[in-house]
Amino acid sequence: MRYLMALWLAGCIALGAVTASCVLLDQEESTAGFFLLVAVVLLSLLDSFISSVIFSVVGAALLNYFFTEPINSFGISNTADLFSLVAFLVTSLAITTLVRRIGRIEKTQRAQAQLLELTHDIIIVRDKNDVITYWNQAAESLYGWKKEEAMGKFIDELLRSVFPLPRDQLQQIYVRDGQWEGELIHTRRDGTEIIVTSRWALQRDGAGNPLATLETNNDITERRRAEDLLRKSQAQYFAEAQKLSRTGSFGWNFSSGEVFWSEQTFSIFEYDPAVAPTIELVRQRMHPEDIRVLEELLAQASGSSADFDIEHRLLFPDGRTKHLRVVAHATNDQPNNRLLIGAVMDVTGAKQTEERLRHAQSELERVSRVTALGELSASIAHEVGQPLSAIVTNGEACLRWLHRQPPDMEEIEGCVRQMTDQANRAAEIVQRVRALMKGAPPDRAPIAINDVVEEAIAVITRDIERQCGLLTRRLASGLPLILGDRVQLQQVLVNLITNAMQSMASVSGRRELIVQSRLDPEGNVVVAIKDSGAGIQEANLPQLFEPFFTTRSSGMGMGLAISSSIVDAHRGQIWASNNPEGGATFSFSLPPAMTQEVVRK
Ligand code: ADP
Repeated sequence: MRYLMALWLAGCIALGAVTASCVLLDQEESTAGFFLLVAVVLLSLLDSFISSVIFSVVGAALLNYFFTEPINSFGISNTADLFSLVAFLVTSLAITTLVRRIGRIEKTQRAQAQLLELTHDIIIVRDKNDVITYWNQAAESLYGWKKEEAMGKFIDELLRSVFPLPRDQLQQIYVRDGQWEGELIHTRRDGTEIIVTSRWALQRDGAGNPLATLETNNDITERRRAEDLLRKSQAQYFAEAQKLSRTGSFGWNFSSGEVFWSEQTFSIFEYDPAVAPTIELVRQRMHPEDIRVLEELLAQASGSSADFDIEHRLLFPDGRTKHLRVVAHATNDQPNNRLLIGAVMDVTGAKQTEERLRHAQSELERVSRVTALGELSASIAHEVGQPLSAIVTNGEACLRWLHRQPPDMEEIEGCVRQMTDQANRAAEIVQRVRALMKGAPPDRAPIAINDVVEEAIAVITRDIERQCGLLTRRLASGLPLILGDRVQLQQVLVNLITNAMQSMASVSGRRELIVQSRLDPEGNVVVAIKDSGAGIQEANLPQLFEPFFTTRSSGMGMGLAISSSIVDAHRGQIWASNNPEGGATFSFSLPPAMTQEVVRK
């Protein structure tokens, strides 16, 4: 309000001054009216409509008072003066309103122009001749050219623009559509090149002729660089992965005949990547025996949509072959545009490994057949060997008794009886082996283990007498029966007792062999053969029961292996340990007949 009062006062003084000057200079009403009008218009610029009204009224009043008849009075004597005063008032109000409106428009425009300065987008206005007429702050900082340097310059020259298509062609499209959007390369003041996305909007005059262009640009140099880098590194990873997996990719456009190969495909086919890939190149590398695979694939792929998974070989000029697996898919990406896209894997290594594995397997089968045969013959030799040597021993004894004078018929009979028994046993073993070969199951009859122990001792009684100082039986009475094969269990006992005697033969001093039978806490029948021999070396303990493991120069290493498989077949266990006082104990346990029955049910 204070501002308004001051303005109005100053305005009235100014108008007074103008009037006074005109009076003093003895000017006419029209001249004074003109100067007052100018003064009113200028004053009106300083404020709103009310001020213009006040100044216009004051101006008209001063004109009336000092220049219309009667002078120095507010009266009006003729109508013409009244008209000129009204005309002054109307003109003054009209002009001041107009001037104020123009001022407002200008203000708005200035504000809008300031807003354009605030944006980070580059805004350039150019006239129909592409001469720059507006250049915002962002354009200054991006291109390095100041507004005053850029204004009036031909834009394509200043920015050394590089267009994605010929300039004339681009202009035609732009004028036709009234807008254009694309990427441009510009050069900055310092000479560096940048990539911008550029949007152009065309302003036309009333007749539709181009008038000006509003161009907004965005700097995408960094983004493009990052994208390029990413693309490059992705391509690099892809190439590396293809190399590692020995997998290449390919594409074939049936319509255009275009063929694409990845770097790895070139390396699989062993062609220079500079060569343009063709189907003919593939044909040249195909193994002659597999060439029909390619022909079939091509025939099928050009037909309906299909998936392929095939294997074939390549034959190189130096005679090398490669095995390839090709997985491909034929499809139409657009009607009439047929594509075959796929991957080709070098599976030569895998094929060779497979081949080696197959070879190793058949070798293993052959070896195990030989081993099984060896084991079997060793087992027959070993098991039949025992009764045969017993027969020989008995035969010799028999001869000695015969040559006595008089011959001891009782001893001879005993010997012959034992020889018959042992021959029967050998025959029985051979029969068992035959049954085994035929796959017949072993005998399963209830047996008292102590009987088996006695029978086994009887078989080798002469050996025992010759080699062993003392044989002690500690056989528990009332043991449960076990279910088993009498002859096989005899074999186990003969083996264990023979081993014990052999071990004791290597040491001097007192020799004692204890054969024990007992019941363990779980109710199993246990038989143990304890000797006072050399004992077992700790390192050998884990391998004792393996076939062909032996520490004896004349040993075959089959006795314990056979014993172990017999005990296993009887659902029992066999083990060995060293005695604290020296020597070793070999034991085996067998489940009682009852449990086996239950298990069998
Ligand atoms: P072989 O008697 O032909 O060597 P075995 O399978 O019967 O084959 O025995 C394997 C090995 O176990 C023997 O070479 C020996 O080292 C060891 N062995 C077997 N029984 C005894 C024992 N009672 N005391 C010490 N070592 C033994």
